[in-house]
Amino acid sequence: MIEKPDLATWQTMAAGLQLEGRAFVDGAYVPALSGETFDSINPATGKTLGAIAAGNAADVEAAVRSARRAFESGVWSKMSPSDRGRRLVRFADLVEKHARELALLETLDMGKPISDSLSVDLPLSITCLRWFGEAADKVYDEIAPTPGSAVAMMRRAPLGVVAAVVPWNFPLMMACWKIAPILAAGNTVVLKPAEQSSYSAIRIAALAIEAGIPEGVLNVVPGKGETVGRALGLHPDVDCVAFTGSTEVGKLFMQYSGQSNLKRVGLECGGKSPNIIFADAPDLKAAAVAAAWGIFYNQGEVCNAGSRLLVEQSVRDEVVEIVVETGKAMRVGDPLDPATQIGALGDTKQASRVMEYIAIGRREGARLVSGGTRPSNLSDCFIEPTVFDTVLPEMKIAKEEIFGPVLSVMSFNDEDEAVRIANDTIYGLAAGLWTRDVNRTFRVSDKLQAGVVWVNCFDHGHISSPFGGFKQSGFGRDKSLHALDKYTDIKTTWINLG
Ligand code: NAD
Repeated sequence: MIEKPDLATWQTMAAGLQLEGRAFVDGAYVPALSGETFDSINPATGKTLGAIAAGNAADVEAAVRSARRAFESGVWSKMSPSDRGRRLVRFADLVEKHARELALLETLDMGKPISDSLSVDLPLSITCLRWFGEAADKVYDEIAPTPGSAVAMMRRAPLGVVAAVVPWNFPLMMACWKIAPILAAGNTVVLKPAEQSSYSAIRIAALAIEAGIPEGVLNVVPGKGETVGRALGLHPDVDCVAFTGSTEVGKLFMQYSGQSNLKRVGLECGGKSPNIIFADAPDLKAAAVAAAWGIFYNQGEVCNAGSRLLVEQSVRDEVVEIVVETGKAMRVGDPLDPATQIGALGDTKQASRVMEYIAIGRREGARLVSGGTRPSNLSDCFIEPTVFDTVLPEMKIAKEEIFGPVLSVMSFNDEDEAVRIANDTIYGLAAGLWTRDVNRTFRVSDKLQAGVVWVNCFDHGHISSPFGGFKQSGFGRDKSLHALDKYTDIKTTWINLG
């Protein structure tokens, strides 16, 4: 159980933080080889938090070499799975020990409410590291049913050097979803955090060393996507890229792979998830409240946010009213205040992008029923929970990922229409479905083109169940033992018995 400080304690802790902004290569913090840095800005205040090493292709080269050396030496790849697992569990314990500091880094970097950083991001990151540590020596290989004159062993072999390129919305959690299974499988890593949120990734690199993970096994190179991310994608000695971010950049990683060494690519990309409420939902109020949290939580900066609410026409007014009231009751404010429920968006660029979509929604003729503005007493990165009603499927706000606290409400008259609207998207990450009819549950969830379908809940999950998308939301799965599939190859050894 992580202890929960009050606002004054958080402010004192923030004032006393020693921020480390250097890269981590071969077991040590190092400045970028060019000596260049860029500023990390707290979106809630607009103030500079500190300088981050601006990595480039030369830093990527050094980090990949370090990761390759560590991999080939066998210090990690040939370590017994039980030993590897124990060190990952120790790593999880150290992240837990530093949970308050890491939660603070997430909130200062990203503007997300400290209560969420502490009670969601940190526990889920710790659980992920611990779970894959515990799983490391519980995955068995296979023997094929060959004729008796031969034995064919099918073993999972680690790939080698894996680059993890992650976004800013859940900086530490997204990093852990990658590095935990990558390391558990015996690979080495070069982690590239998003430029908006580098601190937690940089900080945990030292904790990995303290946990006994050998030097060179986990390297961190901060910097811009177009330089560090691109250099990793094109590097001939990177065996795999594990990417989470936008579909647009995910497509670039496919190109980088084709232009270089055909490295494996795993993509967790964007979404425009439908949340479908049928009139026979077991508890309409609970469904509407969950729909509000499903879009406004984390300022709407959630890949699987329920950004399209599809409501059966007969209960539409009732549902919209509860969603609006729930949004209005959410406390928007200082992310360091434990009472805050909605903090700042990740940066001014993202906030402007969201405001532009709100303007587009108005121009397209959707009915703005709540929000749509920035609170006057806060920085430009805060936006009120916003609900558009009478949205049509062909409108831009119904089609494009906004990645902000903006909900598009549409209505339907029957099941077929609901499924048609829900699937009318390039994305396929997640979907929600509320009904008390068990037959409909199977029928509709079967037809929904999404990697995850929640029934009578939204955004629930557990480390043991896979997460990832269909269609242009990507391929490959994070979490669960299926995540190991991305970071291992099957090696068949055929032994002729004569
Ligand atoms: P982004 O695609 O802009 O950036 C993601 C990462 O890619 C960052 O580290 C960035 O520096 C890097 N990058 C950017 N441009 C690059 C380039 N030209 N070459 C190589 N690397 C580059 O995404 P974002 O804005 O950080 O995050 C938001 C997106 O992430 C949303 O689309 C969201 O849906 C998605 N996301 C998906 C999941 C999931 O599990 N499916 C989870 C969280 C976020």
